[in-house]
Amino acid sequence: MAGSSNTTPLLIGIDVGGTKIAGIAIEVPRPSGFGDVHILAQSNRPARCGADALVTDIISIIDELMAQLPADAGDVSAIGVGTPGTVDGSTGDVRDIANLSIDYVPLASAVREHFQLPTIVENDVNAAAVGAARLVEDGTAGGQTIAFLNLGTGLAAGIIRNGRLDHGSSNTVGEIGHIPVEPHHWRCACGQHGCLETAGSGGAAKRLWPYADPPMPDILAVAANDAHPRHRQAVETRDTIIAAIADTIDVLALTVDPNVIIIGGGMAQTGTALLDAIRAELRRRGKDSGFIHALNLPARLRLAPTKLPVGAIGAALTAQSLPTGA
Ligand SMILES: [Zn+2]
Repeated sequence: MAGSSNTTPLLIGIDVGGTKIAGIAIEVPRPSGFGDVHILAQSNRPARCGADALVTDIISIIDELMAQLPADAGDVSAIGVGTPGTVDGSTGDVRDIANLSIDYVPLASAVREHFQLPTIVENDVNAAAVGAARLVEDGTAGGQTIAFLNLGTGLAAGIIRNGRLDHGSSNTVGEIGHIPVEPHHWRCACGQHGCLETAGSGGAAKRLWPYADPPMPDILAVAANDAHPRHRQAVETRDTIIAAIADTIDVLALTVDPNVIIIGGGMAQTGTALLDAIRAELRRRGKDSGFIHALNLPARLRLAPTKLPVGAIGAALTAQSLPTGA
């Protein structure tokens, strides 16, 4: 079946999260369009601290994925890994995965040497951007620019232009959550005050609303219920979070000017109620400003698929461009 793998690449994707490592094996038919990804196998494990544990767990997941593949599947052509931390795009080495207490791990070379397969390591938000773009809007089709806004523990964006990830000059192009314009001036983990991330992220929602987990569905529900004892606090919290997200979308629109902005990350699991709240705020801003109204931002927003492992699928797709035999 080696011949078929040339036309239908079989790719493995790994998404390293703070609590879980998700793995997937996919086939990508060529030519392919929106959402045209066939899932052949899936395997997950809890994430453990330490570089050795991370490499061991990723290798175990890939072994499990390969064992699950149908007998008539082709050979795996490449492996992609999405991870938090600072990724060196040229080596695939990763530094500072804070949630897993990892200072440094030569991740790409460890996986590549074990499996003797082309392996790429990508920032997790960038990998999720690639997955979301494939599953929601195909940026390769019309040369579109797509922004993926990750409302996770932090706030960051992945930018795809003409079907390719934009890494900027130093891999910081999507670190939009650290633009320090949030009016409460709360201190951010990065050392600045007033970063958008201190209000417009899942981590901020948890801090501001410790009464429910996940917080965002509860915040929106209590804010809509004026008989609830925490109603006023919920309205204030909702408005703070949504304003920071809307500010972030304004910044994306005015600097990147994407055709589509896909909302993803843990907070996106809130679903259409979150999208409705963001759109309402953007419309309100459009009423005050003809300039903002003309940007037509509510119509550019999409929600990332909530039921699919977008990060792992995206990690696999980032490996698609690797030359085989590397
Ligand atoms: Zn910051």
